[in-house]
Amino acid sequence: MALRNILTYEEDVLHKVCREVTEFDSKLATLLDDMHETLTESGGVGLAAPQIGILRRVVVAEYDDQYYELINPVIVEKKGSQRVVEGCLSCPGQNCVLTRPQKVTVKAKNRFGEDVKYLFSGFWAKLACHEIDHLDGVLIIDIKEKFYDPKTDKNLK
Ligand SMILES: [Zn+2]
Repeated sequence: MALRNILTYEEDVLHKVCREVTEFDSKLATLLDDMHETLTESGGVGLAAPQIGILRRVVVAEYDDQYYELINPVIVEKKGSQRVVEGCLSCPGQNCVLTRPQKVTVKAKNRFGEDVKYLFSGFWAKLACHEIDHLDGVLIIDIKEKFYDPKTDKNLK
């Protein structure tokens, strides 16, 4: 396994639409393992492949002792809404206020190319949406309602 360099929003690669994964091979397994290691090292909760310069639809996320690998993820259902504060490893120091669904159903593949389906709610719903946005070149600073202000947005964080 190897640590990868996390890119920030100035890089073009973070604003592009990623391609679907078609080969579920050892190269993909290495990418996933590297992403997991890089995420752990970063102290973050989610990492999408374009954040390390790879234009593929691959996401890893880990929070509260749960770890997911999502390949070619698609949000097939959204329910409710929540106003949240989000940060991003690619937008250091820029916390944003935005609105996300309260629950999302995500269909994806696992590292073996098998179909998986997850229902995410609350924190996990916002995390899944954030990471899947990365695969379409969308960053929180593009879709924010505003930057987070701890004085006026006390209840949000
Ligand atoms: Zn991010």
